[in-house]
Amino acid sequence: MDWLIEKIAELLANSKHAVVFTGAGISAESGIPTFRGKNGLWKRFDPEEVASIRGFMRNPKAFWNFARELILKTKAKPNAGHYAIAELEKMGIVKAVITQNIDMLHQKAGSKRVLELHGSLKFVDCLDCGKTYRWDDLVDRIKRGEVACDECGSLYLKPRIVFFGEALPKEVLSEAIEEAKRSDVFIVVGSSLQVYPAASIPFIAKDSGAKLVMINADPTDKDRLFDIVLHGKAGEVLPKIVDKVKEII
Ligand code: NAD
Ligand code: ZN
Repeated sequence: MDWLIEKIAELLANSKHAVVFTGAGISAESGIPTFRGKNGLWKRFDPEEVASIRGFMRNPKAFWNFARELILKTKAKPNAGHYAIAELEKMGIVKAVITQNIDMLHQKAGSKRVLELHGSLKFVDCLDCGKTYRWDDLVDRIKRGEVACDECGSLYLKPRIVFFGEALPKEVLSEAIEEAKRSDVFIVVGSSLQVYPAASIPFIAKDSGAKLVMINADPTDKDRLFDIVLHGKAGEVLPKIVDKVKEII
């Protein structure tokens, strides 16, 4: 493992435009469960019911019950992995973070250029009257299981996240593709690379000549397409990489 950490640190230290791409795995050590994998949420919730746009339109309450589990039972603070990525950005090495996560933990850790492919939970819109809420202002209602619009009574309060079956925000997606094309080192952290079109972005980087690095707890079926694969926990591995980079530069 140590020589892999050294190799990744060398790549980063010599890079001109490094980009990090994260999935649910980077937030696992913050207590937010991943979707797939051993303690994956999909073992307890049906994604078709709670995370697809059709499921939401059928029964918005099911989403809010799921959201209560997902967010409110966790402390959701950034972990050492998020902080390490933010530090690499401060050092001028990482130019952008592309994330599939909706938890805003990269920003909380200090990352500035964060491209949220699947949106975030910051704002919630009433689909009937258009009133916008801040997620933080809804937390008490979510806890009580009483999420409804106080303007019009609608149950269709939809957070600005991308549900399965919805298109990705166009501008964010094209910025992410631009970053992938510009990158010379592209590091995937904590993603099983099963959700498209997000999962195709690392391979756009590769086609443009970037070295591809995978840091993930478990093997994925795309590992063989990567130049370097390191199986480990993001919160343990990333700080070690930052330390090595500091030794080199
Ligand atoms: P995924 O759940 O499909 O895969 C997570 C991967 O992370 C797994 O391969 C697992 O081995 C790995 N992992 C687990 N713990 C890790 C750790 N400590 N360090 C490194 N790797 C670890 O996640 P995905 O590929 O991001 O796809 C899931 C979709 O669900 C995404 O679209 C995302 O929007 C959404 N999601 C978001 C959150 C969040 O915002 N935190 C949480 C769950 C799901
Ligand atoms: Zn309303």
